[in-house]
Amino acid sequence: MAIYTRLLIKIISIYLLIAISMPGIAAPDQQMQNLDYWPPLIAKLEQLNAQNPNDQNVRNSLANAYNNYGVLLAQNKQWNAAEANLQKALQISAKPNEIKKNLSNVYFSHGNDLFSNRDNPGINIYTYNNAKQLANQAIALNTKNVNALLLLGDIEYMEQNMPAAERAWQQAAALVPDNQDVQKRLSKIQRETSVETDMQSVFNPFFNIKIDRSVAQNPNFDINDILNYVHNKVAADFQYTQNYKVPVVVYNTDQYRQALVDAPGWAGAAYDGKIRIAITPTQKNFKQLTSDIIHEYTHVIIGEMTKNNCPRWFNEGLAKYEEYKHGVSPRIFALATAYSDNTILKFSQLNTELLSPNKNAAVLAYQQAFSFIYFIRQKYGEYNILQVLKKLGAKTDFNDAIKQAYGVSLDTLEKDWRAWLATLITTWAENPDTAPAYQQ
Ligand SMILES: [Zn+2]
Repeated sequence: MAIYTRLLIKIISIYLLIAISMPGIAAPDQQMQNLDYWPPLIAKLEQLNAQNPNDQNVRNSLANAYNNYGVLLAQNKQWNAAEANLQKALQISAKPNEIKKNLSNVYFSHGNDLFSNRDNPGINIYTYNNAKQLANQAIALNTKNVNALLLLGDIEYMEQNMPAAERAWQQAAALVPDNQDVQKRLSKIQRETSVETDMQSVFNPFFNIKIDRSVAQNPNFDINDILNYVHNKVAADFQYTQNYKVPVVVYNTDQYRQALVDAPGWAGAAYDGKIRIAITPTQKNFKQLTSDIIHEYTHVIIGEMTKNNCPRWFNEGLAKYEEYKHGVSPRIFALATAYSDNTILKFSQLNTELLSPNKNAAVLAYQQAFSFIYFIRQKYGEYNILQVLKKLGAKTDFNDAIKQAYGVSLDTLEKDWRAWLATLITTWAENPDTAPAYQQ
């Protein structure tokens, strides 16, 4: 099961271009937006400034030119060059307030870009320290930069530094007291912090683990064994390389209910940016738990590969399929009943039904989504699914991604699935542990 929450509240950053009011140098408006326009102008103003070091007008014009060039560079995500130009502007400007705001916004946007793409090994590699530093630089220049405070809170939250995250979000809330999203986030973290404060940290190269001390004493339980198994199996299936640590919180069962008031009552594990699981201090069997973690970790990978551009039902189907491969084999009793009653759900209904508070409706939606993934894996293999996910990551529409990867429409795949369903239902019911192979 998955619960998604938004990690960053978007408040538009303000970038200010400042008009340059020197005779003969003033930029026409359309030129001001042109990245190539500024370097020669800056060179000219630097020369003038060197020749006339006491001319305040030249100096201010140069500061404004640095500012404007920095703003345009930032709009093109050339963060380091943008920051260097705005820093120069700040050093020489007689009126630095607007420039400070701009530089603060650039630091924020740079940090946000790193944080939002923390799984993309590009030129800018995300680390907790560099993203945190950028957020703090943004706040130092403009203590009212709400975005930067929210970002700092997000970074600390994902690093499992709960008091630091709470502090940053409280400062943000003080600036925008009427913003309900910030209030919701604060009450969520306060609930979580009260449960998670005394948790113990466990080292793992791929996961940032916090675990309740009572369940950490369970002699039968080794969270690293389970997570390493899950990571090795599931990441390999998606040919996925994980470049940051996924936060994991292990609760004892009572605390789990206390911390996750938003989770549906029947969900055993959740992923909301962190993988959250619950065990008891005396639990001996971790087969179902391992399967749940396989499920949630699949959501982590799908979220990263598609940049959260995967239909919920396809995502859930894949998570169930990974459970089938490496965990507990899903059951399809609800699907079998729906098949014989002729109450199979339309695929267009699945996303809604998955979230239904009615357990039976949700279970059917999960089983149907699973059976579809099972079908296309059996018929076409694994490669096409990876193609679909890559295309979704490049913002391709889901129907187009399916068509491009499979050569047929989603509609055709659904019809083929439907025609094959009887085979699945009879074979699965008789022998759920062996795969009923797709028969051409
Ligand atoms: Zn799920």
